Amino acid sequence: MTHLEHTPASASKRRLAPDTSRLDPRSARAWTEPMAVEPIGGGCYAVASASGSEYHVDLPAGRCTCPDNGYRDARCKHLRRVAVEVTRGDLAPPGRLPGDCAACGHERFLPEDGPSLCNDCRFERGDAVRDRETGDVVVVARATDTPADEWTVEERTVAAYESNDGYPADNPVVEVVYPFSEPRTVDLDALDRYAFPHSRLEKANAQLVE
Ligand SMILES: [Zn+2]
Ligand SMILES: [Zn+2]
Repeated sequence: MTHLEHTPASASKRRLAPDTSRLDPRSARAWTEPMAVEPIGGGCYAVASASGSEYHVDLPAGRCTCPDNGYRDARCKHLRRVAVEVTRGDLAPPGRLPGDCAACGHERFLPEDGPSLCNDCRFERGDAVRDRETGDVVVVARATDTPADEWTVEERTVAAYESNDGYPADNPVVEVVYPFSEPRTVDLDALDRYAFPHSRLEKANAQLVE
């Protein structure tokens, strides 16, 4: 029998489970029992089983609150299920929670602490980025988690500046410097910083390599 034959039609949108007949019983149960798994932060997950019990799995610590876990060093089915779903990319990994990216708006697994930005949109210190308004290539000194309408520069918020019209006011502020203006320096902290709403900037790595 192939695993296709015992995959219910309702599960057709999910990736196929392994052939559970080849797994040990504990691993097989982790795949086949109905369980609702939800990330609750701090690397922990709430797992509700079909029987109505709810347990907390701490994935980084390898612990579960169920009576089965730790028994003769066995990993329980809840812990296995969480590990399986994280590995498949169906469940947020430790340190991340599902949410809407503040820049692109797509639902992604976002960092629990730090800017609500997906990996594609996130800027790191030292990234070369292009100002969409002026075309200037600037360098990220710091990506913050503070929205543009709460960051004040000379008594106006970043969001209130005309040059930032059209960029979402709740965009996290990115502080950038202009190291390509004279005199050249590589010390980002020695340069004046300018605050931009995140989506006014785009990655510009390609333009730096000539
Ligand atoms: Zn458990
Ligand atoms: Zn994004």
